[in-house]
Amino acid sequence: MYTALYRKLRPIRFSDIIDQQHIVRTLTNQIIHGRVSHAYLFCGVRGTGKTSCAKIFARAVNCTQPNLGEACGICASCVEIARGASMDVIEIDAASNNGVDNIRDLREEVRYPPNGKYKVYIIDEVHMLSTGAFNALLKTLEEPPPQVIFILATTDPQKIPATIHSRLMRFDFHRISPDSMTAALAGYMADEGIIINEDALAYVVNISDGAMRDALSLLDRLAGLYFDQEITLENALEVTGSMSKDVFVTLFHALLHKNPAKALGTIDDISAKGRDFAQFTDEFLGYLRDIMVSEVVSGGEALAQVVAMVGHFSQVIRNIKQAGSGGRLALEIACIEWIGRLEGGDKEQKSEVRKERPPKPVVEVAPVAPAVVAPAPKSAQDYAERIRQRYLGEPAAESFVAQPAQPMQPDEGLERLRGMINFDIKVV
Ligand SMILES: [Zn+2]
Repeated sequence: MYTALYRKLRPIRFSDIIDQQHIVRTLTNQIIHGRVSHAYLFCGVRGTGKTSCAKIFARAVNCTQPNLGEACGICASCVEIARGASMDVIEIDAASNNGVDNIRDLREEVRYPPNGKYKVYIIDEVHMLSTGAFNALLKTLEEPPPQVIFILATTDPQKIPATIHSRLMRFDFHRISPDSMTAALAGYMADEGIIINEDALAYVVNISDGAMRDALSLLDRLAGLYFDQEITLENALEVTGSMSKDVFVTLFHALLHKNPAKALGTIDDISAKGRDFAQFTDEFLGYLRDIMVSEVVSGGEALAQVVAMVGHFSQVIRNIKQAGSGGRLALEIACIEWIGRLEGGDKEQKSEVRKERPPKPVVEVAPVAPAVVAPAPKSAQDYAERIRQRYLGEPAAESFVAQPAQPMQPDEGLERLRGMINFDIKVV
């Protein structure tokens, strides 16, 4: 039976983990010095090795003869864990076991001692737990049973309650750098006998955005389709439904030079190839971002325009995604709007020319008749009555009618104020 590349090439030793040296060093040091913590939080974007690292750690802490923090791979514990038969390494997918009952079961279970040195619970996608489940988990983390290690893995650490977060030793997994990923993938492809050209590999690395699993899944699809052939950039673009960079270049220039016909022609090409407009716009934004960075680095003149373009297309992408099959129209409108905006901007620059034009003729407008206004109230009493009738629709009772204020003598005001407060006022 065929094993997917990302499963087959899953790292099994700390030394196989790519680009997470900061984490590997700390974990191996803890194992070497016997200072293992009881709860960890592994966070980072998908495909950066969180779960793999958790499994490697589980194996290493249980190994009977570890070497510099690495599992030996031959002792009974290592063999059992590698076979997936060990009762000491428990993987829980919080996405499908997110209820309070699941965590209560776990709390019952953790009380039983491990067969080996440690029981390691790996809770994947831990941010998916319900509030009740988090509360139940907190109780266990507050009084951790001996010989139990929790490794919580998540792509969304901000969704973990602060009370839980403060009890975990946090490790942030980095996106794998393009250079490391290229080197690793080139090695894997050579081992697997898959022939891929440099452009295609660079494209796979670029589209995977630092996630090794995504890169390997895509290579798997390519290798399946182009078995015994060299995988080219065109093949890779075909499989991912992406457009070649030329299309982005053409559209970018059409937008930059205010050429609506060319922009719409490009969109027509995309449509003819049956491509998805939301995906296209996403990738076009990625292309614009690259230009923006290169303009920043080179101090290019188009920087302001490119930044504005990124802003414009970032705003419209939601409309394009929501439009579904109508994404074409949404993208066309976005392009026309952008060009219209540029032309509006040009007019502002020509404002000095405009000033010289004759002023617009003044249109005579017939005077508007003043609105019918109720006569001014004669007294405060009259006014109060009118308000009352407007809101309550009934004549005021005597006690509710405001009394017209009597003019005050200058000292009288001061006397009244003295009566209202409990300390004396001295007039200086
Ligand atoms: Zn071992």
